[in-house]
Amino acid sequence: MNKELKNWQKLDSEHHLHPFTDHGELAEKGTRVITKGDGVYIWDAQGNQILDGMSGLWNVNLGYGRDELSKAAYEQMQELPYYNNFFQCTHPPAIELSRVIGELAPDHLNHVFFTGSGSESNDTVLRMVRYYWSLLGHPNKQIILGRNNAYHGSTVAGASLGGMTGMHQQGGLPIPGIDHIQQPYWYGEGGDLDPDEFGVNVARDLERAIEEHGVENVAAFIAEPIQGAGGVIIPPDSYWPEVQKICDRYGILLIADEVITGFGRLGEWFGSTFYKIKPDMIPFAKGVTSGYLPLGGVLVSDRVAGTIIEEGGEFAHGFTYSGHPAACAVALKNIELIKKENILDSVKHSIAPYLRDKWLSLGDHPIVGEARIKGLMGAIELTNDKVKRSRFPSDFNTGSLCRDISIKNGLVMRAVGDSMIIAPPLIINHEEIDELVDKARTTLDETQEAVQKL
Ligand SMILES: *Cc1c(COP(=O)(O)O)cnc(C)c1O
Repeated sequence: MNKELKNWQKLDSEHHLHPFTDHGELAEKGTRVITKGDGVYIWDAQGNQILDGMSGLWNVNLGYGRDELSKAAYEQMQELPYYNNFFQCTHPPAIELSRVIGELAPDHLNHVFFTGSGSESNDTVLRMVRYYWSLLGHPNKQIILGRNNAYHGSTVAGASLGGMTGMHQQGGLPIPGIDHIQQPYWYGEGGDLDPDEFGVNVARDLERAIEEHGVENVAAFIAEPIQGAGGVIIPPDSYWPEVQKICDRYGILLIADEVITGFGRLGEWFGSTFYKIKPDMIPFAKGVTSGYLPLGGVLVSDRVAGTIIEEGGEFAHGFTYSGHPAACAVALKNIELIKKENILDSVKHSIAPYLRDKWLSLGDHPIVGEARIKGLMGAIELTNDKVKRSRFPSDFNTGSLCRDISIKNGLVMRAVGDSMIIAPPLIINHEEIDELVDKARTTLDETQEAVQKL
């Protein structure tokens, strides 16, 4: 096995360019080769069993090894492996899935534009928002407001709408017509303010930006209900109601990027329902197929879809794999299983509350400044001073250190700077949650020991 692993690592470093990876570091450490998955566990090439606390990349919501999902893909591929939805064509899986997703969504969202990923969904959002306003005779309404440290994908539009400075620095982003406002990150930026007071202040940064650009130039605001890749940033309760009020008052479109929060992660079909907001568009991807095949899309409100259908000619946009039949078939089966197995109820009333109690107990650890969680999205902030909420010196790379220790201990946690985050599969059970939190605590103990030696 080890010889095979060495060979894979050699070939990988000779031929494979990785997303979001420092290749120098990679060559030194060697890639982790994952070969198998079952339930909430993955196995690496050395046979180590690891609890996947991140559901792959927030997407393997029903866990690994679900035959029903693979069979759905296989059967659809035998019947019709590919056809497109361009030029007045369609196929049954796309028709059926758009109906089903429309039914699950809040009442005013009844149309779906399919894509192959979350990034493509946000490219679609950018083009559709601008197209919508120009159809209504407001071609100047072009500016889309996003937030610092938001993640909306890796294409040019996705990375521009997102607020990741590291991404903006590569390739001259953001593109024109996009601006970013403050994020609702109380632990990191809230100072002495009460969280709810901070939440309202940060929401009002949206109002400031609209006034600054002039409402006649502002098209939309895009945000994740809970920021995922930014470090599981859970807004204070006061935040979303205030944002909704501002969008309504100025009549700009609200886009809820639900690529992570859609399809059950917060115990509801959509995070918009969880936070009681009324978005005009919901880009989704990831969990819609539990990651078994790539699929994304944008749920579009009656207001926007109606304008495009009635006022528009051809919307000159689409992807070869917009609504791939096999991916749609998997999504339909995934949704059917979520319903049949009462996954949302289980997340809401059993799994999330159980995980919450355990996860928050990590807050008492000496190197944890805050533990926070909503639904099945959690974070812990590593600190060298619980009161001041300060960070370890940056050259310690405490987050990466902690992640490597965690994986050695058989648990995938992801590091975002010095925040450790989790988003386990929705099918995790109580015993597996005990294992997850025990391993996280051991990892924190060992991380504390390791940083003391630095
Ligand atoms: C992952 C993610 C995306 C991008 O999705 P891809 O399928 O990787 O293109 C967009 N928005 C959010 C909120 C995400 O988490």
